Amino acid sequence: MLSAPSRRVASRTSVFTESVIREMTRLSQVHGALNLAQGFPDFPAPDFVKQAAVDAINADINQYAITWGSERLRRAIAAKVQRFYGLDVDPDREVTVTCGATEAMMATQLALIEEGDEIIVFEPFYENYVPDAAMSGAKLVFVTLEAPDFTFDPDALRAAFSPRTRAIIVNTPNNPCGKVFTRDELELIAELCQEFDAICITDEIYEHIIFGGARHIPMATIPGMADRTVTISGLSKTFSVTGWRLGYVVAAPWLSDAIRKVHDFLTVGAPAPLQEAGAIAIEQGDDYYPELAGMYEHKCDILLTPLLEAGFKAHRPEGAYYIMADFSALGFHGDDSAFADHMIRNAGVAPVPGSSFFVSPGAGANLVRLTFSKSDETLTAAAERIARM
Ligand code: GLN
Repeated sequence: MLSAPSRRVASRTSVFTESVIREMTRLSQVHGALNLAQGFPDFPAPDFVKQAAVDAINADINQYAITWGSERLRRAIAAKVQRFYGLDVDPDREVTVTCGATEAMMATQLALIEEGDEIIVFEPFYENYVPDAAMSGAKLVFVTLEAPDFTFDPDALRAAFSPRTRAIIVNTPNNPCGKVFTRDELELIAELCQEFDAICITDEIYEHIIFGGARHIPMATIPGMADRTVTISGLSKTFSVTGWRLGYVVAAPWLSDAIRKVHDFLTVGAPAPLQEAGAIAIEQGDDYYPELAGMYEHKCDILLTPLLEAGFKAHRPEGAYYIMADFSALGFHGDDSAFADHMIRNAGVAPVPGSSFFVSPGAGANLVRLTFSKSDETLTAAAERIARM
């Protein structure tokens, strides 16, 4: 007898929606707008990085790498972390290569979080953290980063911690608001993590995209934190290869052992030839990194100037490649979706509605996020369109 499926799906999928960021990319394509919604470069990756991948495939590096990452890439990551931040990391026990920082975050939560454990997240936040928590069973507790400079109230942070707190997520430099956490802020977070025996999960994917006088300080370098910090980063943003899906986790063995088990059964491993190319990219000289930051600082100016001239209010980001712009002087008060729609249809520039980075009711309703991870030509064209708005 034929019988139709009951169409039951897991309830955990009902508490989050599709990615708003990718939805905006789709809408941007439908309307032929310039896509300043999704943060990925529309310009080529560096030639030496691309050539290294071609060479690796031709050299027959095409089968599974070791599940936690090829030896060469893990060694390159450990050496880089030592060179830049003075951290001694064992590539054999404390580095795990994942399919992007996205998998790194998911594997970390699945490995460390029990159903009902609390994770503190600063708001505005990167949209993935909500579905990650839905899938790991975590309950999120939010602490607001207050505009315009996105600082937080130390008392509000302290009040968010409790014996139920298992972890706090710190994303620095921050997507979407461009904040770079200061040493004082990190020290306060560190003190609370130690007092409440919580883990710090840091998303440092934009570590090399940093401007002006700001300095990226990894949480793992704060005294007392190396053994309770899971550092997540990757190659996507630094080497303009977001489609390669190369992320990594650096954490003490007691944390890495559990994360590696989850990672193994989630994905087996990241693409082997791209890991080889990633190792070669990281092994290159360190001149690359300030050039990358300088390139993005210039791109930030191309976009920020016309936004301010058009009447948006925006804080200059200290890092990452996004601008949060307040459009309340341009009408559409309190309706970020309507304003984003207006920008796409009438200006031909696609942003992300601000509310997708908040859960507090009404928060983000006068904001849109725009990325400047695009070619100078794309950004100049967007600047002209914004000026005509
Ligand atoms: N990290 C990028 C962004 O914030 C891409 C995110 C995504 O594809 N959902 O735009």
